[in-house]
Amino acid sequence: ATPTSIMVGTGRGAEMGVLFRKGEALQLLKETRVVALDKTGTLTEGKPALTDLELADGFERDDVLAHVAAVEALSEHPIARAIVEAAEAEGLTLPAVEGFNSVTGYGVEATVAGARVQIGADRFMRKLGLDTGTFDRAAERLGDDGKTPLYAAIDGRLTAIIAVADPIKETTPEAIAALHDLGLKVAMITGDNARTADAIARRLGIDEVVSEVLPDGKVDAVKRLKGLGRLAYVGDGINDAPALAEADVGLAIGTGTDVAIEAADVVLMSGSLQGIPNAIALSQATIGNIR
Ligand code: ADP
Ligand code: MG
Repeated sequence: ATPTSIMVGTGRGAEMGVLFRKGEALQLLKETRVVALDKTGTLTEGKPALTDLELADGFERDDVLAHVAAVEALSEHPIARAIVEAAEAEGLTLPAVEGFNSVTGYGVEATVAGARVQIGADRFMRKLGLDTGTFDRAAERLGDDGKTPLYAAIDGRLTAIIAVADPIKETTPEAIAALHDLGLKVAMITGDNARTADAIARRLGIDEVVSEVLPDGKVDAVKRLKGLGRLAYVGDGINDAPALAEADVGLAIGTGTDVAIEAADVVLMSGSLQGIPNAIALSQATIGNIR
């Protein structure tokens, strides 16, 4: 590519809200074969809401929700905000919390009014030695609906299954269709559970799903998917930064975290994913040799 074609391409990108932080990204995008995307905040709004709460025998809804929300009030995860908002909407008073601890990729725990409260993924409960079997049927149903099931334990007893749902961005289906029209494979990488991830992927026609990935695992997933061909990774969060750096081209959502933007080669100025096929098509048009 000539310096002029890169300048022209970069300028046209800016007009359509695609910011090239590195000129070579425009060139690399042309030969992209795989686009891998983070789920939460990238394919989805990143603003989940609480949808379900099913109790084990002997527990009372308001009491459980108040305990769980009290712990989540100290977490910065989007799931946490969904639970706190639900408790607030029901006018619950949150008890005082001590000894908060966040177990990355698993969940959170703290002592609430003298009771030990844990909330998180099923692997968190397994780690605590708790059997989630009584909620298996509910978890399958919630997962198949594309909702994320979470479990709460109080004083070492499995207490509730809670689900949150994060709406898919309105622009996501057409962006994925446009990537397919360009002949690309589309992959999703998420820490969310397999059933939920599969349901969302099915809805969107996503080709490859890597789910239940721990925070450090996104880089390994990117390395593996690179085996399919030149790879662009799209993400918004702090934990996407290593994957953005590992990808052949990293694209950050402009409404995402500064850490992701710093690690990216390209920034999509709006939250819309339409910028991804636009950027690739632009690269093919300005750099030439369209195959
Ligand atoms: P992702 O960004 O894809 O959700 P994370 O590593 O942040 O990945 O979280 C993975 C899983 O850990 C979540 O889907 C959830 O099950 C659990 N988890 C993490 N933080 C919390 C929290 N504050 N409350 C409940 N569960 C949590
Ligand atoms: Mg995200």
